[in-house]
Amino acid sequence: MKKNAPFIGYSLIFLGVAFIVVDTSALFHMYYFHYVFIIVGVVILLTYYLTTRKEKSLLCRIGFHKFEHVGWDDDVPFRLIYRCQRCGYEKKVIRSSGGGGP
Ligand SMILES: [Zn+2]
Repeated sequence: MKKNAPFIGYSLIFLGVAFIVVDTSALFHMYYFHYVFIIVGVVILLTYYLTTRKEKSLLCRIGFHKFEHVGWDDDVPFRLIYRCQRCGYEKKVIRSSGGGGP
């Protein structure tokens, strides 16, 4: 059950958005029904990430890392290395040439 939590959360959000897009207000007389789907989905996702991840910062656990540019990848040209200031999580981003970055 716990392993399926992200899938259920994303499914609910997707369904809620889909209901809004196709405008099913004719079917559901309560218009806020769509938003209930999305809110419940977000709550499930947040609960899952907050309880399963180990990062110290709550924001990091739900994916809001505070990245800073720490260097360039040696293997791939134009690949930047970012590291989170709070938890040390690293990500690599390929930047297309000619962007005039920092
Ligand atoms: Zn982080």
